[in-house]
Amino acid sequence: MKEKVALLRCASYDVDIIEEKIKEGFSLLGGEKYIKDLIPFGSKVLLKPNLLSVEEENSPVVTNHAFFEAVVRVIKDYTDNLIFGDSPGFGSSEKAAQKAGLMDVAKRYGVGFDPFTEKVSAELKEAILVKNWDVAKVAYEADVLISLPKLKTHGMMYFTGAVKNQFGCVPGTQKALWHTRMNNGDNFSKMLLDLNKLVKTDFAIMDGIIAMEGNGPKSGTPKKMDSIIMGESLTAVDSTALGLIGYEDPREVPQYRIAHEFSWGKVLPEDILILGESLDEMKVKDFKKIRRTNEIFGNSNGMKFIKNLIAPYPKLLHEKCISCNRCYEVCPEKPRVIEMVEKNGKSVPVFDKKTCIRCFCCQELCPVGALEVGETLLGKMIYK
Ligand code: SF4
Ligand code: SF4
Repeated sequence: MKEKVALLRCASYDVDIIEEKIKEGFSLLGGEKYIKDLIPFGSKVLLKPNLLSVEEENSPVVTNHAFFEAVVRVIKDYTDNLIFGDSPGFGSSEKAAQKAGLMDVAKRYGVGFDPFTEKVSAELKEAILVKNWDVAKVAYEADVLISLPKLKTHGMMYFTGAVKNQFGCVPGTQKALWHTRMNNGDNFSKMLLDLNKLVKTDFAIMDGIIAMEGNGPKSGTPKKMDSIIMGESLTAVDSTALGLIGYEDPREVPQYRIAHEFSWGKVLPEDILILGESLDEMKVKDFKKIRRTNEIFGNSNGMKFIKNLIAPYPKLLHEKCISCNRCYEVCPEKPRVIEMVEKNGKSVPVFDKKTCIRCFCCQELCPVGALEVGETLLGKMIYK
């Protein structure tokens, strides 16, 4: 049977309009009975937005506060036990929620907050790759988990949507550890799928009204896409988003190629029933995608040599750098790949391409967009 996904057109961050669209999405998926089955009476519901880092209100990096408010308005009719939380890649969860305006919404509607700092150890017996985990207790134990991802590009993983959003369920600094252990796109994808199996998300509502293209997930360009995507299957929601931004086959992105190989959720367009708007009519034809990264490279010395010639790398935009040291702090590799050196009057990062694992944590978390996914000449020729 095909997996149902609702695709809605929404051109504004007006809370009333988004609320109506989300209600329309639930109607398309099955109406009142559908929501009541999704949220059994009295259940504890956790909303998991994307709070990548501490960002200004209306930033396209994080789930928009108006979008969050509209979801709260819809869901609170079905439970009086509603909380939200996330663990950002860098900085305090509470500050990220405050600055982006989500905390204010939560206070107004009596929604609780959890910073995802308390963890629980758990084992996933039927793992693809990772059996033993420490995850945010509140996410692991919630009766119903609703993910509110933002549609964005991602330096390492090409794309971040519903599947990747759940990486926030790994508490704080442990995220860096996973980047070191899963040092290519394929292994990172397997890890993400295992995490999503352990911490099961019941539903996703994707904020694709203003998405992000180019140098995502933090320093890309806002892209108006006017879309909301909703469904129970994270892979089906993401696959629909990939269709919108121009991927003919979602398997071009490692997470979904591997998901398909392991029969992990519905991935292929022919296995997904899109309700509401037409995907073809909503496609954004000029969306700037991230080009292929390093998933084809292993870690043998020979492959490392080839990787350095071909694989994209963190590229410094010297004039933008504010010498904050964050890239140095977040780089998960030991010994360090990054050295801060004086150049043209300021301290800037220099990267050792030989040891860099291309996790792009530095690019992801640079506060001013001074790092981008650089392409080698050979890489450009191969992936043109
Ligand atoms: S590249 Fe970015 S993160 Fe690194 S020091 Fe410069 S501004 Fe800070
Ligand atoms: S330099 Fe950047 S891309 Fe390379 S390992 Fe460190 S954080 Fe990852």
